Amino acid sequence: MADDVADRTGADAAVHERSPAQLSALYQELILDHYRRPRNKGAVASPDRAGAARNPLCGDEVSVTVALDGEGRLSDVRFTGRGCSISQASASMMTMLARGKTRDEVGALRRRVAALLTGDRAAANDESLGDARALAGVANYPARHRCAAMGWQALAEALRLDP
Ligand code: ZN
Repeated sequence: MADDVADRTGADAAVHERSPAQLSALYQELILDHYRRPRNKGAVASPDRAGAARNPLCGDEVSVTVALDGEGRLSDVRFTGRGCSISQASASMMTMLARGKTRDEVGALRRRVAALLTGDRAAANDESLGDARALAGVANYPARHRCAAMGWQALAEALRLDP
């Protein structure tokens, strides 16, 4: 992971001013924070859509419920689940990114996160991914890729996005 973040360029000075080791520690802390204090945990009261994903490899489960407004935006998105810290933290980060977005915007975000998880440096540096950039290190651990993608997979099922 250190090599991945050593040559960042761009506008995100708060991140860039940190050394790779500091950044790695910051990202670890961010993942643990989302795991311990998940954002948007629970179920939408009257969901318009729902989806779920499982990862039999580590027993992770994520279920997502979504409320849509009259313009097709996700007015609310919440998740429930259990499993490893990466799976639950990533689902928490996903809800923050998806709220207020359209279905197409969610599809674009999902592709961007998929790129992040496979080591795309531009995605790792993309401010529009917010806290999810903390998952960039997962690219070094292909076995954990599915853990990090599950929240997005559940949301894609809920919105019937292409696999
Ligand atoms: Zn997992």
